[in-house]
Formats: sequence, C-alpha cells, structure tokens
Amino acid sequence: MEKQGNIRISSENMMPIIKKWLYSEKDIFVREIVANAQDAITKYKKLTELGEAPAQEAYRITVTADPKAGTLTVEDNGIGMTEEEVEKYITQIAFSGAADFLEKYEKAGGEGIIGHFGLGFYSAYMVSDDIEIFTRSYREGAEAVHWQSDGNSTYTIGPCDKSTRGTKIVMHIAAAEKEFLKENTIRALLKKYCSFMPYEIYLNPKEGEESKPVNDTHPLYLKQPKECTDEEYKTFYRDTFSDFNEPLFWIHLNMEYPFRLKGILYFPKVRKQVELERGQVKLYCNQVYIADNIKEVIPEFLMLLNGVIDCPDIPLNVSRSFLQNDKQVQKIAKHITKKVADKLIELYKNDKERYESCWPDLATFVKFGCIKDEDFYKKVEDIIIYKNLAGEYRPVSSFYGEAVSEEDAKNGKEPQPVYYVSDENKQAQYIKMFRDAGLDAIYCDTYIDPHFLSYLEYKNPTRVRFLRIDADIDGALKENGEEDADLKAIFEKALEGRRVSVKTEALKDANVPAVINVSEFVRRMSEMHSFYRMGESPVDVTLIVNTSNRAVTALKEAPEEERGRGAEQIYYLALMNYRQLTPDELSAFVSTNVMLLEKYLKKSQDN
Ligand code: ADP
Repeated sequence: MEKQGNIRISSENMMPIIKKWLYSEKDIFVREIVANAQDAITKYKKLTELGEAPAQEAYRITVTADPKAGTLTVEDNGIGMTEEEVEKYITQIAFSGAADFLEKYEKAGGEGIIGHFGLGFYSAYMVSDDIEIFTRSYREGAEAVHWQSDGNSTYTIGPCDKSTRGTKIVMHIAAAEKEFLKENTIRALLKKYCSFMPYEIYLNPKEGEESKPVNDTHPLYLKQPKECTDEEYKTFYRDTFSDFNEPLFWIHLNMEYPFRLKGILYFPKVRKQVELERGQVKLYCNQVYIADNIKEVIPEFLMLLNGVIDCPDIPLNVSRSFLQNDKQVQKIAKHITKKVADKLIELYKNDKERYESCWPDLATFVKFGCIKDEDFYKKVEDIIIYKNLAGEYRPVSSFYGEAVSEEDAKNGKEPQPVYYVSDENKQAQYIKMFRDAGLDAIYCDTYIDPHFLSYLEYKNPTRVRFLRIDADIDGALKENGEEDADLKAIFEKALEGRRVSVKTEALKDANVPAVINVSEFVRRMSEMHSFYRMGESPVDVTLIVNTSNRAVTALKEAPEEERGRGAEQIYYLALMNYRQLTPDELSAFVSTNVMLLEKYLKKSQDN
C-alpha cells in the first residue's frame, strides 16, 4: 500500500551546508541582522505615516559587543513581533527560506550567489552557538516574547519582560568566532556593510556620553546633484574610499526611469602606468551594501574608477550567471557607460584646458574603455587626444590623412602613416630628424598605447596606420638619393653575419652618419612575443647609411683595410640610438674609439 508523507527538510542537515557554503563571507551576518532591524523601523515608520501607530522618539539601532558575556546584540525600536509573528517569520519562514536557498544553491552550482534568500536571520548561526530574540510588537497590549534556539531542530518560545517596542537579537558567539566580539571588528563590518543605511546605528554607546552614529543616514549620492557642493563631493570621496588624494572629477548618476539608479562615480588620479590600478565600485541596493566590483552590473573598464552605485532594481536573489543575461541589468550597465562618456565629452567641450590637464590620468581609462566597449569608443572617438612634437594636444583623428578608397585598399594601398614616439629619450635622434625635416609625430607613452593604436587601425582601416618614429625615414630623405652600390658593399662586408640589411640614402640631416630602422610589422611581432613571454626574438634591422654625411664619404676614400672597422663603428653609432649595445658590441666600440682618439691626438701633436 502506498503511503503519503511530507518531505521535511531538517535544519540539522541544513546548517552544516549553510555554514560551509557561506563560509567565505561569514561576516555578512552583520549586514543581514542590521538590515532586518532597519526594515523593522521602516515598517513601523510606514504605520505611523498611515496613522496606525503613534510617531515618536528617534529611530535607532544599537549594536553592542560584549566580550565578557560573549554576546553580540543588535537592538532596534522598530515594529517588533508578536508571538505568532515570531513563529511565522522566524521559525517557519526563515526555515523555509533556508530550504529555498538549498534548492537554488543546487541549481546555481553553488557559485557566486549574491544573497537575500530570506535567510538573513539564519546567517547569524555561522558565528553563533545560540541566538535569543527579545521582541515586543507595536500592537497595543502586545506581550513581549522570548525565542531561543541553537539553530538546530529545536527552539523555545515564551513570554518575557521587555518594556519597549522593538526587537533585540542576542547572538551568543561561538568560541572559534571570538573575533566578532571585538569592537574594532564590528566597527569595520558596520562600516563596510551599513555605512549608508537609513537609520542611525550606534556601536557600544556609553551611557551618559554623546556618541556618533557609525553610518551616514543621508549619503550624498541620494541628494539631487544641484544641491551638492564640490566640497561635499570631495569629503564623501575621502570618507568612502579613504583616499586622501583629491579625485579629478565625478559623475553624479540620478535617474528614476526606466529604472532607479543613483550614485557617484569618481575619477581618481592614477598617473602610474605600470599596472592598471583597480578601483572600487561599491554596489548598494536601497542603501544596503551588496558587493564591490560586480562585473555583471558595472562594465569592467569602469572598475578603474571609484564609486558608489545604488540600484534597487537589480534582482539580487538570483545567481550571478543569471544577472549576466538579464536585460534590465544590461540596460543599467549601458546607461552608466553612456553617462560616463557624456561627462567626458561635456568636459572636453566646456573646459578643454582642464580636460587636457586631466588627460594623463584619464588616458588609460578611456583607451581601455574603447577597447572593451565599442559603443563607448564611438561616443568618445573624437575626444581622444595625443600630444604632437610641438607639445600640443589634438584629437587623434586630426592626424589622420586622406582616406584611401575601398577600391585602392583592396589593391593593397595603405593609408598615410601617423608616426609615433614611444620613448622620448631613446628616440631622441629620430625626433630631431623629424623636427628638422618639418615632420610631425605623436607621443604615445601610456602602457596601453601599443594595443590601442592597433585598435584604432582596426577600427579605421582606410584612414590610418601607425609607424613608430624609427620604423622608416622616408619623410626625412632628400629627394631621389640614388643607391650607392660601393658603399653598400663596404657595409655589407663589414657587417656580415649580423641580422642587419643595408640601404644607402641621402638624408636631409647631414650630421647623422646612419640610422637604424625596424619595420613596424616586425617590431610589433617581436613585442607580442615578449608580451606573451615567448622569449625575446632577435629582430632584423635595416641600417640606413647617410650618403650626405662626411664621415660616410670619407669612409669610401679610406684605405681598404680601415673601411671595415669604420663601417662597423658607424653601425654602432646608429645602433646606440636604437638600443643598448651588448657587452661584445660595446667593447668593440670602445676599443675602436680608443684607437681613434690616439690617432687624433697624435695627429694634433704632429702638427
Ligand atoms: P528576510 O529579511 O530576507 O525576509 P530573515 O530571515 O532575515 O529574512 O527574516 C525573516 C523575517 O523575520 C523578516 O522578514 C521579518 O518579518 C522578521 N524579522 C527579522 N528580524 C526582525 C526584526 N529585527 N524586527 C522585526 N521583524 C524581524
């Protein structure tokens, strides 16, 4: 015969799983318990507004850490609970909330769930052996109730003495979790999770002493932007991010429709280019802290910023993988990106000087944003600026030449090159040559530039290609210098066995005996190799020998046996402007130099 039965989820099997699963974020119980207290006050306040309960004293939450008693207590003067409500909301709902949690936990593969399963209260068992609730409902004549449970299957409930309205949660902290009895620990946790909660929270208030709440009940981001002063923005920044550097500027997000979104994003000073410094974008939901840098909601490149975003419309009771595909969340992310682009454009248009002075801090962020998000690139395309050799900032597109027609491009015609300097000191000789020849180039020295220039080429295939200033010297050439075959042969013989090919050209600048060129393509490949740590690959270079230079012409006239050494010396001189000499090259270079010096000094003595 078939029997019917109820499947009971027993809390005895459940608690170990909950404890284990929530383990990594144990301290979140502080948020849950304090948020419940906040909710209780909100509910009571609603009743007073409806005229169903008398409005009265200041609303407040008191948190008391008592190491002697081993308890952490959270007390509110909110709505309170009757015995039935405790039975219903704590014993039953919380238990069923936990069941719900287990189910979702299994579906989600146990990963990355943000929280809020109607399980908040039970999270306190991660750190407590035993919890007591003392509560008294706002209802007239309601009796105070005491509930107690060790979090396993049994609990007790009964009347108690409590004269004031509201709820007091007493957590008996487990021996292994003593940390949570320290005032400083709790203060830090309240700061992390409860900073902007709407009702005042006091930690260990001393009787008779005036104390300050740990939270800011009216955080700046909730105000209307026009009501906020620069000083307030800066103070809020300092307090929230403990960064004593002033932010560059900020964006105040404030919208109600089609979703609610409030917050402030700050552009910090970065300058350091070695690493992209990670920022901190804190996500809140109705003034309750959720987490930092949730990439499903905040586009990745915006995480270089510091900020606070409060978005009550984000579904939090779902797994992160769900968030990723949520249309609403995608819209929110898009909106934030758009606002950031708008702000940058506005600054560029209205205060170019300031924009330029901020640019060194902004550049990496903007370039990274473009690479990560095409929509962002399209918006800010014309406000990406580079400095030219004259030291003026100009939009990068203003350096582009005439576009190549699709037809020509198909036949392999390349757009005009824009030359760039990646290292002002190392490329000094090339810069000088360019200047003397009346040519321009742009300075690209943020660490993201190599990638970003490729990105611009990819986005504008018929408009631009970039060549590093040492990639070719076509523009610095005298017109139609013919190749000098004899000279070429001298150099080729002298440099045999090295990865260098020789060209002879008449350069406009007669003072330079020779320069090294490396094809842009070859160099990028080599850079990519070292980027992916595939080892340095030696690069083939071209030595351009300057037929206008007097040392070079003298070389041709020199006795046969001295030509080789002279050619080699000229090669080293060019090489030094391109890279550091190897120890062998350097010692050869020095010994020839000593020999030359000797000859020169002897000659001046003879005269
Ligand atoms: P959730 O807050 O997600 O509903 P909890 O387990 O945290 O789940 O709480 C369950 C219920 O217990 C709450 O919805 C509320 O009705 C009641 N409750 C919890 N804490 C308090 C409190 N401090 N004052 C009044 N009611 C409370």
